[in-house]
Amino acid sequence: MPERLDTVVIGGGQAGLSLSYYLTQQGRTHIVLEKDRPGEAWRSKKWDSFTLVTPNWQFQLPGLAYDGDDPHGFLTRDQVVGYIDDYVALFDPPLRLGVEATFVEGKASGRGFTIGTDAGSLEASNVVIATGTFQRPRIPIFSQGITPDVIQLHSSRYRNPERLPSGAVLVVGSGQSGAQITEELYQSGKQVYLSTSGVGRAPRRYRGKDFAWWLDKIGFVDQTVDDLESPAERFDPNPHVTGKNGGHTLNLHQFALDGVTLLGRMEGATGSHVRLVDNLMQNLRTGDKAATEMKKGIDKFIEKSGIEAPEPKDEPQLRAGYEARVITELDLEAAGVRTIIWATGYSFDYSLVKFPVFDKFGYPVQKRGVTAQPGLYFLGLHWLHTIKSGLFLGIADDAAHVAAHIDAR
Ligand SMILES: Cc1cc2nc3c(=O)[nH]c(=O)nc-3n(C[C@H](O)[C@H](O)[C@H](O)COP(=O)(O)OP(=O)(O)OC[C@H]3O[C@@H](n4cnc5c(N)ncnc54)[C@H](O)[C@@H]3O)c2cc1C
Repeated sequence: MPERLDTVVIGGGQAGLSLSYYLTQQGRTHIVLEKDRPGEAWRSKKWDSFTLVTPNWQFQLPGLAYDGDDPHGFLTRDQVVGYIDDYVALFDPPLRLGVEATFVEGKASGRGFTIGTDAGSLEASNVVIATGTFQRPRIPIFSQGITPDVIQLHSSRYRNPERLPSGAVLVVGSGQSGAQITEELYQSGKQVYLSTSGVGRAPRRYRGKDFAWWLDKIGFVDQTVDDLESPAERFDPNPHVTGKNGGHTLNLHQFALDGVTLLGRMEGATGSHVRLVDNLMQNLRTGDKAATEMKKGIDKFIEKSGIEAPEPKDEPQLRAGYEARVITELDLEAAGVRTIIWATGYSFDYSLVKFPVFDKFGYPVQKRGVTAQPGLYFLGLHWLHTIKSGLFLGIADDAAHVAAHIDAR
């Protein structure tokens, strides 16, 4: 007979653990299935010098908030893992580690769920899918045609410059990870080629405060998914910026000044030959425009709210990227490139759920985690409800909402 439970939570990242915190408070029998370790995404999928981009004061798990003396600093990877370990020690969630859920389907009786796992089946009245959004490294198929002389790895497997072979590095993608890794590589003395994407730039600090502080005050992080002009906006990349060394803006023009070779989007490759789109200038304009618009939005908010803030300071108007030579073909061997780092993001896959609760993107159709299938929930996904649903800042509110819904059933 399969084991019967009230609630099964699938995924022991920050979302699954946060929900478990509330379910434990309710005294509800539940388990959290985690195929690896709690908070695995922080343990094995981030590079050595990784820091959060969100400031420490935004680290707010239910029952455990940042309590250090640097609220405006940025937690390192190992500090985040330390907090996850503290969280597990705090309330001892009923974790089943090393157990992977393989399917979730309706029971033959029509009430409740059967959850298949690699350690046998379970039955439950409620199932919460908290398996994250950044699940599978996304690497273009044409990577398979690239010469084996070049080592290829996804950003989730990059650790530090010393672990890479000697020679130049091609970083593909200039979102947060790609820009942060590029900075680390060229500062370590590596020659770097960066294939850019159309990603915005966030000025780290503006008019006396961190941009994350302003976005919070303005209410940007409280906008719900219904406020977006198009559902496709949920998948827009995050602007490049970093929390490293106390946090600073990452500017592709500065990269160009510092010797990085900027390229347009990579569209194909065969052997040692790489083809690039002639869209570098457009990508640079996207970054510059995003930074200008964010500053304008903050100015407008300051004016409207009457909040006291220092006058805007003229920032150096960097334009070096616009002077870069347009390159549409790159010979990896001739350029001395021995490594490609794919900072091309992640895809998600919720195919273990055998209910028709997905939109054309394969993203769950739900209202703040609650689906049309009674007892089936999602939690922790990027833009599940707001932009902070997938962040340490917003998980407590969403988890409380789902826990309350389960309690009311
Ligand atoms: C490069 C990068 C930088 C980021 N920076 C920040 C930041 O600065 N601030 C911030 O707040 N957020 C940041 N995030 C976002 C944040 O890391 C994620 O959104 C967060 O990890 C989501 O938590 P989660 O619990 O929903 O998912 P995850 O942390 O992905 O947890 C899901 C868990 O489910 C497990 N799992 C998956 N499938 C199964 C299965 N079938 N059976 C059992 N277990 C399963 C996985 O092993 C994993 O442990 C960043 C993300 C990335 C990728």
